[in-house]
Amino acid sequence: MLAGSRGDSDDRGMVQDVNAIPVGRLAPSPTGALHLGNARTFLLAWLAIRSRGGVLLLRIEDLDGPRIKKGSVEATLEDLAWLGLDWDGEPVLQSGRIEAHTLALEHLKARGLVYPCVCTRSEIERAQSAPQEGLDHGTAYPGTCRGRFRDAAEALAATGREPAWRFRVEEGQEVSFEDQVHGSVRIDLSKDCGDFVVAKKDGLPAYQLAVVVDDLAFGVNEVLRADDLLSSTARQLLLIRALGGQPPSYTHVPLVLGPDGRRLAKRHGDSRLAHYRNMGVPPGRVLGLLAESLGLGDGSEVASPQELLADFDLSRIPLSPWVFSGEL
Ligand code: GLU
Repeated sequence: MLAGSRGDSDDRGMVQDVNAIPVGRLAPSPTGALHLGNARTFLLAWLAIRSRGGVLLLRIEDLDGPRIKKGSVEATLEDLAWLGLDWDGEPVLQSGRIEAHTLALEHLKARGLVYPCVCTRSEIERAQSAPQEGLDHGTAYPGTCRGRFRDAAEALAATGREPAWRFRVEEGQEVSFEDQVHGSVRIDLSKDCGDFVVAKKDGLPAYQLAVVVDDLAFGVNEVLRADDLLSSTARQLLLIRALGGQPPSYTHVPLVLGPDGRRLAKRHGDSRLAHYRNMGVPPGRVLGLLAESLGLGDGSEVASPQELLADFDLSRIPLSPWVFSGEL
């Protein structure tokens, strides 16, 4: 036997299948300070993984150049720490992973699954960010550039424009998946979005591709996020399949709403964590409120997220959106 190798029986009691270890991630976009809505989703993601002894990664989704505000990465880390949410390992900056995203894109190109597209700038810009509610609904790409150019060089020569890259979606292509909150979901991608952007014309990966490549590379097997990304999941599953990866499980949790029933936003007042912090509100007060919204506790102060672990059960979280009154 080689020095240092283990004998036959030494691995008894060890985890036999590393895929059985829950691996989740917090994936904030540093486009502004964290507000109560983000905090609630991150608390849930944290509880879901930590309550089962899993691994929780932190990935900063900083690819959306124009929307990334200076200092937001630091502010995000500070906000998470203030709430007491921790993670394992070093934070991963998506902007440091572009080589991996590009390799995946080359693979898709080589297999003829993507094509160059020179269509409107505004649509392509929207693909840079996670497509939140209201941003990309009702506009399936009509396939204008499909089959139009052999490659990027030809697209550039013919139009004078650098092309983006779109992933082909076949007519009537449906994707089904099980969601822990929404149950069976079936999305017809040809109606929902059509061929979708996986790389922008500046060569940077679009949100859909970057998320998939990074989740696969880091062994993320549980994705918990807000349900404005539900329809993105169908796109991501197509990409996972095309890249030969193993899909994670999905939990899309309801958004936080303001008293008028619309998604919590600036018009409802300042619900940024930094605002509460500056006003001297203790983090335990915010945690208590969020915990109550999840059916944990009566809203009174909670010293730390750890305190919530014992009673947490993902299958019992409220399925309807939480309406925040604006009062803390
Ligand atoms: N960065 C995205 C957001 O803040 C989340 C992406 C994801 O969870 O896949 O909306």
